[in-house]
Amino acid sequence: MLNKQLSAGSIVESQCTRCRQIMNHTIVAMVGEKIVRVECNTCHGTHAYHPVKVPKAPIAARDGQRKVAEPRKTKADPEAAARAEWAALKAGMDPAKAIPYDMNRKFCVNNLVSHPNFGLGIVQAVIPPNKMDVLFQDGKKRLRCG
Ligand SMILES: [Zn+2]
Repeated sequence: MLNKQLSAGSIVESQCTRCRQIMNHTIVAMVGEKIVRVECNTCHGTHAYHPVKVPKAPIAARDGQRKVAEPRKTKADPEAAARAEWAALKAGMDPAKAIPYDMNRKFCVNNLVSHPNFGLGIVQAVIPPNKMDVLFQDGKKRLRCG
């Protein structure tokens, strides 16, 4: 215990109802360890003990710090994903059926394409009027088509 044991006759600070300020008071009555009545040492009025209000702590400066943006979890490398997709599709590829790539030729989704530079690929999307997305081993390429 930091405080001396308080008892009737001890001096405590209390809000004085008459002085309207925090004043030294003499404890008049206590119940257990609770101060019940005090006498103001200044105006000598007796009144109920009003504990000194602890000034409220200033509102923690606006929730403290701003939330630091968490670094986003790095997404799976899209190229790695494309390679994985290609590897999965490759199982069903029959190179014999691959259509040699020709920018003037029409392709359909899921056509197997054989490209001189990119190798085997699968048409994933046809974008009118003359483009298509083909998934090659190295990733998706947008190619011209007929
Ligand atoms: Zn007083």
